[in-house]
Amino acid sequence: MGGSKVAATDVVAGSTIVLIVLLGPPGAGKGTQAARLSAKYGIPQISTGDMLRAAVAATTPLGERVKGIMEAGELVPDDVMLEVVEDRLSQPDCASGAILDGYPRTAGQAETLDPLVWRIGQGRSSLVLVLDVPEEEVIRRISGRLEEAGEAGKRDDDEDHVVLERLRVYRELTEPLVEFYRDKGVMTEIVGVGTVDEIFDRMDATVREHLQG
Ligand code: AMP
Repeated sequence: MGGSKVAATDVVAGSTIVLIVLLGPPGAGKGTQAARLSAKYGIPQISTGDMLRAAVAATTPLGERVKGIMEAGELVPDDVMLEVVEDRLSQPDCASGAILDGYPRTAGQAETLDPLVWRIGQGRSSLVLVLDVPEEEVIRRISGRLEEAGEAGKRDDDEDHVVLERLRVYRELTEPLVEFYRDKGVMTEIVGVGTVDEIFDRMDATVREHLQG
């Protein structure tokens, strides 16, 4: 094995199975960084937002159920999400672990995550990385995404008023999870400002430390 690339087998050898949870406000860069961690460590990225958008696009029963909720910037109920995530984590490609991007997002989801991974696997070591980005920066980034994408490419929930609602929901329901995980001693805050590479290097250093520790 050359360079600094770490193979999935190292992940497994280092600490049984790894579940990496990315927390952070909308627009913090979770999706971008999750994709890079996934490529480097050979474990899948599970983006609940992408899964739900795919369900909406395919007009599945799940998609029909969540469409309006997503368009309004609200959260899909915990019981629906639990089913979606349990189903996804049970797939064979998650046998060595996964990177959760956008889950959990409520106290209820966080509380059922541990029992869920125990049920599916053999007990996993989990690591929570919080991407810390000031709110002004988040709004600037999401507005940029809106302009760059143009009408055809923009996400339905990137409209200004929906962005503000998603930020409000984050502050009210998701941000408290930072304390929840801090108390459990499995959380590391990552400065989420800088270039994509700089932020990735910070996250990667934490993952390596965790795997070696
Ligand atoms: P995201 O792409 O992660 O920003 O998610 C887009 C939208 O999908 C959110 O605004 C929610 O409506 C829904 N969603 C994604 N993940 C969750 C979750 N863990 N719990 C509830 N709703 C979610």
